[in-house]
Amino acid sequence: MSRIFPETFKASEKRLKQILPKFVRCLTSKPNNEYDVIVVGGGIVGTASAREFKNRHPTLKMAILEKENDLARHQTGHNSGVIHAGIYYKPGSLKAKLCVEGLRLTYQYCDEKKIPYKKAGKLIVATTEKEVLLLTDLHDRGLKNEVPELKLLKGREEIKKVEPHCEGLEALWSPHTGIIDWALVTQHYGKDFQQLGGEIRLNFEVNGFHESDDPNFPVEITSKDTATVKSKYVLTCGGLHADKLAELSGCARDPRIVPFRGEYLILNPSKRHLVKGNIYPVPDPRFPFLGVHFTPRMDGSMWLGPNAVLAFKREGYRWSDINLSELMDALLYPGFIKMALKYPKAGLREILKSWVPSVQVKELKKYIPVITVEDVSRGPAGVRAQAMDSKGNLVDDFYFDMFKTGGNSKIGSRVLHCRNAPSPGATSSLAIAKMMADKLEQEFEIK
Ligand SMILES: Cc1cc2nc3c(=O)[nH]c(=O)nc-3n(C[C@H](O)[C@H](O)[C@H](O)COP(=O)(O)OP(=O)(O)OC[C@H]3O[C@@H](n4cnc5c(N)ncnc54)[C@H](O)[C@@H]3O)c2cc1C
Repeated sequence: MSRIFPETFKASEKRLKQILPKFVRCLTSKPNNEYDVIVVGGGIVGTASAREFKNRHPTLKMAILEKENDLARHQTGHNSGVIHAGIYYKPGSLKAKLCVEGLRLTYQYCDEKKIPYKKAGKLIVATTEKEVLLLTDLHDRGLKNEVPELKLLKGREEIKKVEPHCEGLEALWSPHTGIIDWALVTQHYGKDFQQLGGEIRLNFEVNGFHESDDPNFPVEITSKDTATVKSKYVLTCGGLHADKLAELSGCARDPRIVPFRGEYLILNPSKRHLVKGNIYPVPDPRFPFLGVHFTPRMDGSMWLGPNAVLAFKREGYRWSDINLSELMDALLYPGFIKMALKYPKAGLREILKSWVPSVQVKELKKYIPVITVEDVSRGPAGVRAQAMDSKGNLVDDFYFDMFKTGGNSKIGSRVLHCRNAPSPGATSSLAIAKMMADKLEQEFEIK
């Protein structure tokens, strides 16, 4: 044939050489970018949920997309590291149920995987008569929530048997409260997911959900650096960016995420002997924060805090971390303005605690009177994703969203957003994952 039509053959050969690599790349790379289910967000909630879903549906092709170069880089890797026992939450609420179940599942999982933890125990200490009344309520809640071996300690002698340097009128003692490195736990969840066949794609910052040209994989997900993947269904667990991700598939902006930074002090090693386990205040029922507390860490150090101040950037771990558009977004949000006007004194006090460590130490001295400002140094910080509605109410429960009507509905109904995974999300992660997997099966009718 080459003898009959040499020119035509040469031209075809050249063309083939041009097309072939593209064709081969297309054949080999396309399936790698097509998934049955994608989870956006490699914090503890996204990773635990992906692991649970892959476990239930091993034949589905799944991936986690995470914008950072590792898992657990934000809330999960910047928290107090406590395994909460479920004392605070309203009996019968989802939060209470998930925390108590989460604690049990966490200990079981860590024993299986040999992940280190310590049952350091926790005292919640009342220092005024008003707090004693609130403590009685907390005790009642804890008993109703079936917190294991919870005990009310009456009087300072009882308290001193647990924490010799601690002062207080009454206290709740929870021996099963523990401490752990939640980032390490997330790494283990990620490893399980990969062993089940799931893929973790790091440095993939999702910036769009679009309708793809392939009806089998209708959701096209684009990244900041122009990478593209396709999926049948998507779950987002974006923490501090949860509202922005929801907006990308057509959902409303509300509830908005307002970032609150929590800053810790560190007790100097020479005074470390003053505190054995976790010591917490009786929380102010108006706020979702637990108040400044003493928390032992797995490395042997002792963290004191955190306070709660507006972060000038979603992931702003220092005062100097500023993103003007994110800052204006928070400051001009009617919900934030209403909340700030409602609690101006509390807000200012939190800022003072940040600038003047002695203010934070003064609060800590109520429990351990001998510590002074010379005994502490500045420590790390975490930023909490606080979901808030436009009236200034703090969203205290799980909040799911999905855009089902209007122009973007074709893909909107395939993208489920978890817009609020309330604290203690790390403790509850294995229980949340089960709930999330049920929700995915139900919303997307996956059997
Ligand atoms: C100061 C502080 C102390 C706390 N203490 C405790 C405690 O002691 N015990 C406890 O149980 N809980 C605690 N919590 C709560 C707990 O840390 C959180 O509930 C939990 O970590 C939330 O996990 P997450 O996966 O939802 O969020 P995150 O850990 O923030 O993960 C979200 C992930 O999504 C990724 N992401 C966001 N946008 C995109 C995008 N566009 N594309 C790709 N990826 C994206 C982020 O990079 C991030 O990795 C604390 C929280 C804070 C802030």
